[in-house]
Amino acid sequence: MATAPEVNTRGTVTHNAADLLRRQRESLFPSVALYYENPIEIARGDGFRVWDGDGNEYLDFFGGIVTVISGHAIPEIIGPVQEQLAAVSHTSTLFLIPSQIALAEQIIDRAADPALSRVFFTNSGTEANEAAFTLSAIARGNPEFIALRHSYHGRSFATLAATGQSTWRPTSISGINVSYVGNPYCYRCPYGKEYPSCDLFCAKDVEAVIQTATNGHPAAFIAESVQGVGGFVVPPPEYFGVVKEILDRYGVLYIADEVQTAWGRIGEAEFGWQHFGVTPDMFVFAKGLANGLPIGGICTTDAIAGGVRTLDISTFGGNPISSTGALANLAYLTTHHLRENAKVVGDYLMDRLREVQERHPLVGDVRGLGLMIGVELVRNRATKEPATAYLARVQNLAKERGLVIGKGGFHGNTLRLSPPLTITKTEADICVRVLDEVFGIIEAEGALT
Ligand code: PMP
Repeated sequence: MATAPEVNTRGTVTHNAADLLRRQRESLFPSVALYYENPIEIARGDGFRVWDGDGNEYLDFFGGIVTVISGHAIPEIIGPVQEQLAAVSHTSTLFLIPSQIALAEQIIDRAADPALSRVFFTNSGTEANEAAFTLSAIARGNPEFIALRHSYHGRSFATLAATGQSTWRPTSISGINVSYVGNPYCYRCPYGKEYPSCDLFCAKDVEAVIQTATNGHPAAFIAESVQGVGGFVVPPPEYFGVVKEILDRYGVLYIADEVQTAWGRIGEAEFGWQHFGVTPDMFVFAKGLANGLPIGGICTTDAIAGGVRTLDISTFGGNPISSTGALANLAYLTTHHLRENAKVVGDYLMDRLREVQERHPLVGDVRGLGLMIGVELVRNRATKEPATAYLARVQNLAKERGLVIGKGGFHGNTLRLSPPLTITKTEADICVRVLDEVFGIIEAEGALT
């Protein structure tokens, strides 16, 4: 593996995990979370496999937080990126960027809705949501927003205010005003109801929130199509339709946050809003677009994009490297039918996990779409007491067995499975076998009450 030359007096760029951990603790923000009792470096990747600094091999079922969508070190993506790096790596949006323009066209084509015809590129999901808030506030002349509880929209001053989890929100002070509505989380309905006899109360409550918590004409409603950090919470099929009908009556814009759900991860559709059959006024994307190169952006209507009357640039947004990588990644996803694979293997994995659920009372809920699957762990099926304290142990035991999995959920008790879309049923079976064994160990250690 490549090792950079000595960079400072405190040490070299090393691959020794203990040394790295000590130096990280001394130099980076203490708020930066790390996985595992003994955190690791992912030193190398190949497809859906990764290796740590000691050469141990793992199946990667988290993809760098739902981002490595085509797999690691894909030659068809690396090749064009290397060529672009050698030609020119940075120009800024003050100059024509051929790959950026072609990428915008691709995204508009994939949205396949005549209303969504304009794209602006950023460097991250956070920055893309900031753009969505700015555009909405310009269009509506109001900085009021509605968001869902358990949402995650980013780590900047405005997006933090729309992130409905105190664990992720170091401050609530912000330039925008956000009112929250209960999320469509049927396993733990915030209104204590049951689907479908609830008659979509959570969606209908959006109207009461507009009427009571805002000035009556907020700028926009923002929601992830499937809540990501919140634990892969999938709304009922009718949810967004009911909400949109209310938004339209009040003239409120709908921002779909597709940062985790886009590019075929959910199997049935390219974007979550397409799956739910409700066109937003704008949708926001990032993570998987360039398979790990930094990029984000927003796709919206002519009218909303035209609302920006001032000058606009982004130094790095849609830069030649990330845009070239994104184009190659989208081509790879299409030519290898990875959305279709996400549907087939995702459905298979979900079925097999439901069998695991039957064997293990620790598993309260299995949910998801495509290869975005959440497994919520509880100490008691009847009370649904979250098994939060056991999640780190599950992750550590899975790692010892060669499986990297993610964590999430408002209670921190949901395993998140989001591998590259290239996995086959063989890898799905390995994941199931490891989790089956690990759940048995945790249950034997007394996790259940
Ligand atoms: N929106 C959602 C739904 C996300 O999951 C995230 C990141 N986890 C973001 C926005 C922010 O993206 P980034 O970390 O690229 O700023």
